Amino acid sequence: MSRGDVEPLSTAIGSPFTQKRLGPEEIEQRALEIIKSRGEEGIYQHELWKALGLDSREGSRLALRLLKKGLIVREPTVHNGRRTYKLFLARKERKRTQISINIGAVIEVPCFTCKHVEKCYEGGYFDPATCPILRKWLDQKVALMKKIISH
Ligand code: SF4
Repeated sequence: MSRGDVEPLSTAIGSPFTQKRLGPEEIEQRALEIIKSRGEEGIYQHELWKALGLDSREGSRLALRLLKKGLIVREPTVHNGRRTYKLFLARKERKRTQISINIGAVIEVPCFTCKHVEKCYEGGYFDPATCPILRKWLDQKVALMKKIISH
């Protein structure tokens, strides 16, 4: 296992046949430990689901609970040509100036104000991988970055 890899939950507490079933709070705690271990790099949400042995629906619900509690933040991104989210631990200890910069960036993301955010997950009716609103926003960001780089 290389540095930065996430130890699968089944490895951490035993084989899938011997591991005890974790409750929601234990899974949340384990998720936070994994996300924290990734630091500034963050973790693709599908990597977290895999490490926890969750499917995308269960994983998305878990992420929404952690988001609602203010324990994590997520940023839309593209991985292997697919739109997805990266998850980061919310860092309440950040300095005020850093917070204002980060909140400004988050507010731009259409998901931040989307009325469907609680029903949006990979494979769902509302899915970040196929969302036209998110795609348009990402396309605009990519176009802007290309313009900046070309100058
Ligand atoms: S529907 Fe689109 S804009 Fe809304 S939360 Fe999902 S990905 Fe974001």
